[in-house]
Amino acid sequence: MGHPVRAALLQEVNGPFVIDEVELESPRANELLVRVTASGICHTDLTYRAGAGRFPLPVVLGHEGAGVVQAVGEGVTDFAPGDTVVLSYFSCRACATCAGGHPAYCQQGYAGNFSGARPDGTFPMRWRGAPIRSSFFHQSSFATHVLAHRHNAVKVGASVSPELLAPLGCGFQTGAGAVLEAFKLQPGQQLAVFGAGAVGLAAIMAARVAGASSIIAVDLDARRLELARELGATDTFLATQPDLTKTLLKRTRGGADFALECVGLPQVLRQAFDVTRPLGTCGLLGLPSPDNSDVTLSMMGLLVGKRLVGILEGDVDPKTFIPRLVSLHVEGRFPLEKLSRSYAFEAINDAVHDMETRTVIKPVLRMNGGHTS
Ligand SMILES: [Zn+2]
Ligand SMILES: [Zn+2]
Repeated sequence: MGHPVRAALLQEVNGPFVIDEVELESPRANELLVRVTASGICHTDLTYRAGAGRFPLPVVLGHEGAGVVQAVGEGVTDFAPGDTVVLSYFSCRACATCAGGHPAYCQQGYAGNFSGARPDGTFPMRWRGAPIRSSFFHQSSFATHVLAHRHNAVKVGASVSPELLAPLGCGFQTGAGAVLEAFKLQPGQQLAVFGAGAVGLAAIMAARVAGASSIIAVDLDARRLELARELGATDTFLATQPDLTKTLLKRTRGGADFALECVGLPQVLRQAFDVTRPLGTCGLLGLPSPDNSDVTLSMMGLLVGKRLVGILEGDVDPKTFIPRLVSLHVEGRFPLEKLSRSYAFEAINDAVHDMETRTVIKPVLRMNGGHTS
């Protein structure tokens, strides 16, 4: 009863992705069969490729899919075949956390995004006759077709290329959401961003939209700092600069209103925290490696009213936030095209290599269909 589709299988930890035919079930209740036309690659995919989820392999990763709805399961009235959608993270939209307006912290978030199966534990994908781990972020978008849930699909117009829109589902929404939703940055406030990758650069674009008076970018790579400047950073610093913390405190006259850690390293979080002003907020966006995630903070620094907050997925509701980012893009205020480079699906390992060697900020895979009914 499965449909043959093509997917990029991870067969060994840190191994290459191998594209092969897999069987995908028909959509169950509340699910959408989506033909993926594009998928971004996010650092979280690479962290899981390095073994973070400890899934029995093979697994199909990918969680920045965009495409076209082909069929809908029972109970789906808000989507129809032909709709263009961006896929994001899954939330149940019913628990107390979701009802409180914070679906990124949904009580079913683990089961629905990281278990390698549907939230109910079943497997929608089979390979060589046996069920395999997929449903990553209730999509597993390194495939020509996926089963998404109506809760993690967002309808968008067909006017903007899916290759540009796909990364809105995770990386870009995370950076932009932190600034616009979690921080609610106001005109005239200052932001310091540590790490000018996809997430950090999206935060910088959002800070410009919000009217920040100064936007500081810190990175190891001079080319990324140049791009950060083009996208709205007012001041850029190499992370290797001696006495950087002191310099940033001076530049911000005692600390920034907001600082963002977009790297996932304890020493970077410490630095971001130290350059946050009293009563300011330091946000953590970077995903640390499990064996290097303990951080030491100055309690004196914390006592002066500073906040330190972890932020998942920008603390946004993708159903409303992604359309907002699409509008900003259409107005020319969120120039996604400056961050992405497109690759054929078959070149997925080249895309990963370019990401790891920092020659591309946001690789986006182009899928050319495949066969399914
Ligand atoms: Zn929930
Ligand atoms: Zn991601």
